[in-house]
Amino acid sequence: MTDPSTLDLAVIGGGASGFFTALQYAELAPGRAIGVFEKGASFLQKVRISGGGRCNVTHACFDPRELAKNYPRGSRELLAAFHRWQPNDTVEWFEKHGVSLKAEADGRMFPITDSSETVIECFLKQAREARIALHLKCGLQAITRDSNGFLLRFENNPQPVHARKVCIAIGSMKASPLLRELEALEESVEPFVPSLFAFNVSDERIANLAGVSHPYVAVRVAPSGTPRHGPLLITHKGFSGPAVLKLSAWEAREIAAADHRFDFLIDWLPHESTESLRNRFAENRQHHGSRMVRNSPVPPIPRRLWESLAGSCGSDDSTTWAQLSKPALNLLLDNLKSCRFTASGKTTNKDEFVTAGGIRRPTLDFRTMESRQTPGLYFVGECVDIDGVTGGFNFQAAWTTAHIAAVAIAGA
Ligand SMILES: Cc1cc2nc3c(=O)[nH]c(=O)nc-3n(C[C@H](O)[C@H](O)[C@H](O)COP(=O)(O)OP(=O)(O)OC[C@H]3O[C@@H](n4cnc5c(N)ncnc54)[C@H](O)[C@@H]3O)c2cc1C
Repeated sequence: MTDPSTLDLAVIGGGASGFFTALQYAELAPGRAIGVFEKGASFLQKVRISGGGRCNVTHACFDPRELAKNYPRGSRELLAAFHRWQPNDTVEWFEKHGVSLKAEADGRMFPITDSSETVIECFLKQAREARIALHLKCGLQAITRDSNGFLLRFENNPQPVHARKVCIAIGSMKASPLLRELEALEESVEPFVPSLFAFNVSDERIANLAGVSHPYVAVRVAPSGTPRHGPLLITHKGFSGPAVLKLSAWEAREIAAADHRFDFLIDWLPHESTESLRNRFAENRQHHGSRMVRNSPVPPIPRRLWESLAGSCGSDDSTTWAQLSKPALNLLLDNLKSCRFTASGKTTNKDEFVTAGGIRRPTLDFRTMESRQTPGLYFVGECVDIDGVTGGFNFQAAWTTAHIAAVAIAGA
């Protein structure tokens, strides 16, 4: 006989992945005793602020192979996982529970209400209907194995709680006091570094260009990093935008090792080769020799940015194509195709950021999200060493890992 005071499932963390695990489990195994324990004073706090308050729930990418390419850490493990729960399933689940999603031109998917509250209300309503016990200000402090599962001790709660299965969904574990507890259970953790940040750059060439954006560049760590493509935004502090955030994610560890001080190269015209540009400029010299270089921007480089790049090549404002010296021409080509900048630090991207690192992937069985060391203990969401680039991929990893854990726990 099961002890009635024992929970079938204790979910630790009342964020995106914790709620989704509890809700999915309740749907699959109705009537079982579930508790969600949240350290903070409110549930789903990150969902609330996510996507600038709009909650970028997932991404309109429905091919698991393509989808998995958006995860600097975890893409191999997620490829199989996405065959079991991918954005299509997310969209369907939300639709079925009263939240319609829409896709924007760049693939990001939001509730049609453009409000994260819609997602929060949906989750809380479902949890109430499924009679999931929700506990606030209940941070897990200690976890030990006992004969029938786990014994859990929470802050503000003198009574320990028994649970047959435990799902850890506590988000970033950087600086979490729980780390010691988990290490005592022999769980091992990849070191933490920030991901999805903007680059601080102090450079004359962009000094007065805050707010200027470019629709498509390639950015790479100098001298020979892999280029990351997408739009770029010049800010008061340096560079941001999807291409920069992508690079910050893919090179998160290398950049952290350099204390976020590093050189990087921007290709402002990734669709055009240096040779093709050289020919284009030779034609300018031949047919438009009297035209000023600063007045001949190459699309899609914004005019003000072009003026600055052209101006930093040793020519003055009135230099014409005919007057442009060979060294100045070479410098201009260099500035366009591999424009070197030095980052002196990072700035948090307010719309979305995550921590790379967490429970080491090889220590988990990705068919169940169960720990290989500690049967009955599951990990989902950001506390696992998985993270995606910006665009709804991080929530999708939370939904997918939560679904897989819920199915496994319900079947166990
Ligand atoms: C500003 C911002 C905007 C973002 N926007 C997006 C977006 O639009 N789209 C997207 O895909 N991703 C976005 N992300 C990333 C996304 O929020 C995370 O990937 C996602 O929240 C991870 O879900 P999670 O449940 O694993 O962790 P969390 O959502 O962080 O939830 C973990 C919960 O566990 C609780 N907890 C911690 N320790 C304990 C403990 N000991 N006991 C009990 N509870 C504990 C925490 O208080 C927290 O409520 C954003 C992130 C930020 C910071």
